[in-house]
Amino acid sequence: MTAQFNTFIPPVRTLMGPGPSDVDPRILNALSRPTLGHLDPAFIGLMDEVKTLLQFAFQTDNQLTMPVSAPGSAGMESVFVNLLEPGDKVIVCQNGVFGGRMQQNVQRCGATAVMVQDTWGQQTDLQKVEEALKANPDAKAVAFVHAETSTGVRNDAKAISELAKRYDCLSIVDAVTSLGGIELDVDGWQIDAIYSGTQKCLSCVPGLSPVSFSHAAVEVIKARKTPVQSWFLDMDLVMGYWGQGGKRAYHHTAPVNSLYALHESLRILHNEGLQPAWQRHDEMHQTLKSGLENIGLEFVVDEAYRLPQLNMVSIPDGVNDAEVRGQLLSEFGLEIGAGLGELAGKVWRIGLMGYGSNMKNVDYCVSALTSVLK
Ligand code: PLP
Repeated sequence: MTAQFNTFIPPVRTLMGPGPSDVDPRILNALSRPTLGHLDPAFIGLMDEVKTLLQFAFQTDNQLTMPVSAPGSAGMESVFVNLLEPGDKVIVCQNGVFGGRMQQNVQRCGATAVMVQDTWGQQTDLQKVEEALKANPDAKAVAFVHAETSTGVRNDAKAISELAKRYDCLSIVDAVTSLGGIELDVDGWQIDAIYSGTQKCLSCVPGLSPVSFSHAAVEVIKARKTPVQSWFLDMDLVMGYWGQGGKRAYHHTAPVNSLYALHESLRILHNEGLQPAWQRHDEMHQTLKSGLENIGLEFVVDEAYRLPQLNMVSIPDGVNDAEVRGQLLSEFGLEIGAGLGELAGKVWRIGLMGYGSNMKNVDYCVSALTSVLK
């Protein structure tokens, strides 16, 4: 029998989970434009603009700023494999899933991860970070997650980076969920290495990871005694394609159409402005919060460090997690996120990211949950 395969038409969904978030139709439209050769002068012009727009989004003058051609986890890996060598020591702050992924990256580089652990749902404790810095004067870097997607906690990126500098360490920041959603100032906060993802508050298609390295981080890379163990993520080689030092040589075939999409998403952010985008995320969060509290749902994270783009609420007693999420998906086409790790079955995570952070989504989510929970 000959198998039949039909064109895949995705069902209509509203994506209000931890990411990917709803992609702006203008970005999908950009994605579908004809593919160019990846060394075509017209495409190279677009790459230059993507770099400039990323410098704007990160608020940095860092020359080594560009998107890695792979998802957020590859951005994470690129930072660790380029900065670390066997025998190095890194202080890793963990208060959720993604700090744990950083730890694994550090260890796979042959380095030691000194863990600063905090309860999931609470902020990284600055005093503990300082104690770890004092106890480990040989530490090379402090690594932490700015917006912990698994809990909805905002860690104090400015204060942790300042602490790292005071103790002569590099700061390594996960901005996968923060970029475009909350304040982030790479140069102002003296961040040395940062990576993000395109599928959260940039509302772009998944699969790219913007990264940026400070001058100090580049000097550390230049002074390496051992080659970067990953050929694909070796920044020296990647930058040969992204035009560092005027070079433009084949490294890998860029995801040409995804870069059209990223360019459009950054253009949209640029047109809106960073402050207005952060403010919109905050306002939508406040409206969602009132709506959810009106139907008896309780937020887990303290208001002082709650992320507007990732709202974590407790699942009420006696309510079946999977059934509710299943019903939201089948009856309303609405995706919200389950709890991760130790929070599985205990919480829901409701995303209000980028293009999806709008009144229509807020109202839709509150009315769908009202209907399903009654
Ligand atoms: N870091 C954080 C904070 C994340 O939320 C995610 C994904 O959700 C990642 C890293 C990994 O990104 P990706 O799934 O694009 O590899």
